[in-house]
Amino acid sequence: MTVMVPSTTPALITPGRQALDSALHQLAHAAEHLGLDEGLHTMLATPRRSLTVSVPVRRENGRMDIVQGFRVQHNITRGPAKGGIRFHPSTDLDEVTALAMWMTWKCALVGIPYGGAKGGVAVDPSGLSTRELERLTRRYVNEILPLIGPEKDIPAPDVGTDEQTMAWIMDTYSVNAGYSVPGVVTGKPMTLGGSLGRAGATSRGVQIAAMMALGRSGEGVTVAVQGFGKVGALAAQYLSDAGCTVVAVSDATGAVHAPNGLDVAAVRAWVAESGGVAGYRDADAMPLGDLLELDVDVLVPAALEGVVTAENAPRVRARLIVEGANGPTTPEADEILAGSGVVVVPDILANAGGVIVSYLEWVQNMQAYSWSAGEVEVKLRDLMESAFAEVRSLSAERGITLRQAAHVIGVGRVAEAHTLRGLYP
Ligand code: GLU
Repeated sequence: MTVMVPSTTPALITPGRQALDSALHQLAHAAEHLGLDEGLHTMLATPRRSLTVSVPVRRENGRMDIVQGFRVQHNITRGPAKGGIRFHPSTDLDEVTALAMWMTWKCALVGIPYGGAKGGVAVDPSGLSTRELERLTRRYVNEILPLIGPEKDIPAPDVGTDEQTMAWIMDTYSVNAGYSVPGVVTGKPMTLGGSLGRAGATSRGVQIAAMMALGRSGEGVTVAVQGFGKVGALAAQYLSDAGCTVVAVSDATGAVHAPNGLDVAAVRAWVAESGGVAGYRDADAMPLGDLLELDVDVLVPAALEGVVTAENAPRVRARLIVEGANGPTTPEADEILAGSGVVVVPDILANAGGVIVSYLEWVQNMQAYSWSAGEVEVKLRDLMESAFAEVRSLSAERGITLRQAAHVIGVGRVAEAHTLRGLYP
């Protein structure tokens, strides 16, 4: 296949390239399983549109910095492009392309009428003042303005962005349009047309997926959560609310471990006060990498890509991995885990709660109507549970992993849409 450019020496493979290689590897398996012809496979392996922009930012000291930004629309065959925007210093075009591709399969898998997209700005948001962040966000949005719109491409939060970022995006787009356009972005504050339940949606989805995979109550189930940000902190909370014992959590500042269980609400309060989990009193500090290898029932990677690798996978002792992050497990690690009987609930299923409630937010915006928290919760649960059931039964029927089954379903739906629409001209 022409697009699978062979990588150079291993030492030069960037994390972004690694993520894209993983995404292409997963697609290749699904394409083979589905018997897709080479042309269609190549089309699905290639983003529909990619835009790289230079974003000038006026710093507080008057200096102008230029950072790189990206927006990739991987596929728009089933509906408008959809996916978050990431502010992270090491993001690059390869990573954003991989993340956009995963959004395409995720939306198709859970049956929402979107294609897949992702955006990124190669910047460390913690190194910028609020005013610098606002200027950066507005200028980046201005540069990608021709691509986005409520019927074209709808951004959302991802790593390093939040409700405030979404509010600036909504405002920048709306000022350019000359009227308010809430449906251009999801994950907005409630006052600007956000949806009840959106803030905790990814985490709620992780909890639903974990409980379905466990097939029993949370009593006596131990959990470790890697990443204690927007997804991980609430996933830990919801799993703890469901009766699980969360024994370890980590973030960029460190990892903390309490074999008898952490008081997750207290850890969240500590993080709100101190900025990270490190130094939380009622637990022992532990080396970051050790958390992934703890003897627990469930491991929830909820940070970045490529953390469970061929190197550490043989030492993973959890029996179940529920991927809150996108792409945390490499294909080599997947094979090792499958060989040792570890069940992995894949990212495009486990973390789909976020984009599901983004869709519900957008539907509410397009109708100028809002649903109660209960209505949102029921719709989220329905979509998560039916996608999970479909993945589980295909996996059992074909003897493939949950990840392979999820990709076969997602890729299959997109391929079918392409075939039905036909090729223009
Ligand atoms: N960034 C989230 C994801 O990776 C949410 C995307 C969205 O809501 O559009 O699924």
